[in-house]
Amino acid sequence: MSNQEPTIVRRQSTRIYVGNVPIGDGAPIAVQSMTNTRTTDVEQTVNQIKALERVGVDLVRISIPTMDAAEAFKLIKQQVSVPLIADIHFDYRIALKVAEYGVDCLRINPGNIGNQRRIQAVVDCAKDHNIPIRIGVNAGSLEKDIQEKYGEPTPKAIVESALRHVEILDNLNFDQFKVSVKASDVFTAIGAYRLLAQQIKQPLHLGITEAGGVRSGAIKSAIGLGMLLAEGIGDTLRISLAADPTEEVKVGFDILKSLRIRSRGINFVACPTCSRQEFDVIGTVNALEQRLEDIITPMDVSIIGCVVNGPGEALSSTMGVAGGHNKSGFYEDGTRIGRIDNDKMIDELEAKIRAKAALLTNRITTKEIV
Ligand code: SF4
Repeated sequence: MSNQEPTIVRRQSTRIYVGNVPIGDGAPIAVQSMTNTRTTDVEQTVNQIKALERVGVDLVRISIPTMDAAEAFKLIKQQVSVPLIADIHFDYRIALKVAEYGVDCLRINPGNIGNQRRIQAVVDCAKDHNIPIRIGVNAGSLEKDIQEKYGEPTPKAIVESALRHVEILDNLNFDQFKVSVKASDVFTAIGAYRLLAQQIKQPLHLGITEAGGVRSGAIKSAIGLGMLLAEGIGDTLRISLAADPTEEVKVGFDILKSLRIRSRGINFVACPTCSRQEFDVIGTVNALEQRLEDIITPMDVSIIGCVVNGPGEALSSTMGVAGGHNKSGFYEDGTRIGRIDNDKMIDELEAKIRAKAALLTNRITTKEIV
């Protein structure tokens, strides 16, 4: 593992705020997810948002397809603290209603709202309530004339659609927006984001749409978003998975963690294991990942099965173990501290990691106060 500082230079963009979360202009890349409960089921939706909060979500989007859902939104908003984005298609009255109920961002495409009077009403409302808009263009639902012009949803076609919506907001002197240009094909999405990044100054919301189940979706998203993020493109992201939404948040943070863009929680470094392993590496990592999900303090922990790579990795981690016969070498902050019995490995490491996290959190807090 390298301790080199990342060399990613973020694309310059304007800054918007979704509630108290800054987006763009160098702000930490915000991780979003979306509820998949029925919005009118207030209790279930609140429970899901709270579960998302527990895994560190920064922003939550909720679909508001009807006025009944807008009324449910009012109750949901009162019970959670994470900023909420309302996903609205076509019906501008729903946008006005949720703005009244305290929504933090509207995901609505101005070109789909209808006549100029309705568009003006939504933009005026966003201005009055000081809330941003997300323009969300999807390769699968481009305007008919654009589809006919390009024949297929190419990056250029997607960006042309996005710029139509952008132009509507520009003409109304509204610049508090971010834009997404999603596609389920990785190269199409990358091409569209690269193109759009050069054409507007607003923040970009990244996503590979309908990416798939946990494994395939995480891989597609890691490749697509990883390439863009490494180029400095992207200010907020959502990993779309056909899975529990908390998985989306975990994968989102793991992608940011891998690129050393934003750390949250433990970055486990583990060897793939072989016959040299002196303890059950895979079982240990899986158990610790599960037990330590609540730890948000960033730290690197290496779990390595033998002395071939163990000491090297452990010395460059916050904490690490290098497998040995019956007992394994234990390292902290670049020094070998002692040994841990292999049959007590999981419990002992959990205790040590928790103690270290508490210490580091305390140090961070003290530093902030000073
Ligand atoms: Fe095998 Fe040791 Fe390499 Fe792990 S570190 S894969 S146990 S040789």
